[in-house]
Amino acid sequence: MVMTKPIERILPDLMPRPPRRSVAVAVGDVVVGGGNPVVVQSMTNTDTADIDATVSQVEALARAGSEIVRITVDRDEAAAAVPHIRDRLMVRGCNVPLVGDFHYIGHTLLKTHPAAAEALAKYRINPGNVGFGEKRDRQFAEMIEIALRHEKPVRIGVNWGSLDNDLLTRLMDENAKSAAPRNAREVTREAIIQSALLSATRAEELGLGRDRIILSAKVSQVQDLIAVYADLAGRSDHALHLGLTEAGMGSKGIVASSAGMAVLLQAGIGDTIRVSLTPEPGGDRTREVQVAQELLQSMGLRTFVPVVAACPGCGRTTSTVFQELARDIQDFIRVEMPEWRSRYPGVEGMNVAVMGCIVNGPGESKHADIGISLPGTGESPAAPVFIDGKKAMTLRGPTIAADFKQLVIDYIERRFGSTPA
Ligand code: SF4
Repeated sequence: MVMTKPIERILPDLMPRPPRRSVAVAVGDVVVGGGNPVVVQSMTNTDTADIDATVSQVEALARAGSEIVRITVDRDEAAAAVPHIRDRLMVRGCNVPLVGDFHYIGHTLLKTHPAAAEALAKYRINPGNVGFGEKRDRQFAEMIEIALRHEKPVRIGVNWGSLDNDLLTRLMDENAKSAAPRNAREVTREAIIQSALLSATRAEELGLGRDRIILSAKVSQVQDLIAVYADLAGRSDHALHLGLTEAGMGSKGIVASSAGMAVLLQAGIGDTIRVSLTPEPGGDRTREVQVAQELLQSMGLRTFVPVVAACPGCGRTTSTVFQELARDIQDFIRVEMPEWRSRYPGVEGMNVAVMGCIVNGPGESKHADIGISLPGTGESPAAPVFIDGKKAMTLRGPTIAADFKQLVIDYIERRFGSTPA
């Protein structure tokens, strides 16, 4: 007899862990941390002073599923635009929390633009460039005092590319004198973590509660990301924002962000995420939201949109019908999803299968809520459709794709509509 062991006993370190216990932080109406579902966020790349462009992009990101949107606030014109952006979004029915991204002069901008300080749901402070020399503590304190006055949370966002140089130099000097010096990379990681923790402690000493502080420590290499956040998670119970900075373009950025964040999320680390993709020139900024959602959904952490399972195709498929159908169904679902979310509650959990031939087609389709097995090379030109695990019909002829799409629409209406059959 073959004895089997539960997978948990064979590979205990690889199994998903419950969310790390972090202090919940309210960002507008969205709660980050405290065991709540991991929040997806993104950032605009418009000039914030261009109100029309920024409103359009924030709305597009929110519509795509971004639950928090960060905007650059880099000068007076941008700060002056913030309350107008907020108001225009509200008129359009978009109440996504806006986060102000401040560097160098955040203390001045927040002080001279109180309407912006009020309109924003959170302030991002970079301890590496909040001020230099003796100005650092004073300017950091000014931002925290404004957060206290307006009852706003902050994100203390350390970035590898703008790390506090005084702190790094001090740690490097101490390391050089130690009996067992660590390598420069390890010391830099430690400086990143200390920068976040020391700034959080300072904010708390100034009166900002831990329920108003989120930490991030972004780096650009996957192994550094995992090491830094694993360490940070063990040394603090602040809510954590995960993200790989300068992740890059296209598949490189997607793979690197997913590889790093998946390891941390599997360990229960991370309360909110951003996938920082460099868009192609003229590319769609909402792509990063889609990738973040797909990362969380593929790990079983959240459910955002129906999943379309499609086989990769092989030598048994001589036409592109199944690829086109899989893409059509996926695009159709993405476009319709903002409306479906309210009209068809629960539809995001649906599974659709589009398969290329008889080898795995019927089996995979049976596992889906609705699936089609298209004819492969040499098979009779018929496509069985499976609904709720049972063969429901066979489609034939040149309209197979259109017919299947209509069956998907009918299925959604029947199962998730307000008057289910
Ligand atoms: S289901 Fe058929 S067409 Fe698709 S990959 Fe498998 S063998 Fe190839």
